[in-house]
Amino acid sequence: MTAAEIARLRRRLNAWYRANRRALPWRETHDPYRIWVSEVMLQQTQVKTALPYYRRFLHRFPTLRRLAAADEGAVLKCWEGLGYYARARNLNRAAACVAASGGRVPDCWDAFRALPGVGDYIAAAVLSIAYDQPHAVVDGNVKRVLARLLALDAPANAPAATRLFQTQADRLLDRGRPGDFNQALMELGALVCTPRAPACGTCPLEALCRARQDGAVERFPRRAPVRRIPEVEAAVGVVVRNGRVLVTRRPPGGLLGGLWEFPGGKIEPGEAPAAACGREIEEEVGLRVEVGEPLAEVRHAYSHFRVRLHVFLCRHRGGRVRLNGPAAFRWVRLEEIDGLALPKANHKFLPFLKRRLADLDSRRARSSA
Ligand code: SF4
Repeated sequence: MTAAEIARLRRRLNAWYRANRRALPWRETHDPYRIWVSEVMLQQTQVKTALPYYRRFLHRFPTLRRLAAADEGAVLKCWEGLGYYARARNLNRAAACVAASGGRVPDCWDAFRALPGVGDYIAAAVLSIAYDQPHAVVDGNVKRVLARLLALDAPANAPAATRLFQTQADRLLDRGRPGDFNQALMELGALVCTPRAPACGTCPLEALCRARQDGAVERFPRRAPVRRIPEVEAAVGVVVRNGRVLVTRRPPGGLLGGLWEFPGGKIEPGEAPAAACGREIEEEVGLRVEVGEPLAEVRHAYSHFRVRLHVFLCRHRGGRVRLNGPAAFRWVRLEEIDGLALPKANHKFLPFLKRRLADLDSRRARSSA
């Protein structure tokens, strides 16, 4: 693209953005903390999904200092259901780092980029939007627009192409208004240059778009083949003792770190789900249990694998809890569970569990009457 074409692209895109941008709460503030929260939530999450979480999170943690002082469990509870929980844990830790060094979100790339969970995308987005600094963002929407606009052959999902997309985004960036320009490019990808059936006829960049001019929009972005997502089978036990159930807390790092769950684990090849449930509970928390009726079978998809959970009601037969893996445990009443942050897969069977335990309680009450 020539310098004149780039100047035209900036003018057109900025004008389109002024007229078409969605009114979103993080666009009504210059507070770097609030913009930061929005960008963390919007990574791997669509705007309509993130919106209620954003409002709730900022109601609960309206300032960086409030977030910095918060207990990780409370932060995870507020994030519960949004997934990718490392984002919440890192945000909590990063807020604590910022609070400890004065409380102002850094406006310098190196200092901000060094905070937990802050990668190139978050750094570019927050510094450009909150502080008007000339850093170009590259997310999935931007890659798609650039791939079509410039007819880029590099696969958009290949790590090796990251530098190429970044270089092109840097070249196009309007350094006079970097925050608006970045948001405009992302907004165009979300509203017009969509993955399927882009609305080229209404696109402000139509006359500049190589793929459109070549009649080859559907060929871009190119994608490298992706691996099939494996499915894991796991067995989980709801161990009941004196009207309470056992929950364990996952270690702080890694997948779903810091969240509470019912004990269990992977089913070995050839193993029956009920047998795996008893074995896993004994290995993980040191309890002997009687694996009872199957309660539910639920499926859930994570980013790199899918899980099929076989859930059983279990009766405590003996032993004291000795943890081997989990970071903590609690015996809780069922109504207390709503106060804990649980993975989505556990939420999927909670209604069955509540109904079944209520049913067992009322039977017990009737038989003892
Ligand atoms: Fe995307 Fe079509 Fe606009 Fe090109 S003309 S940028 S393909 S919406």
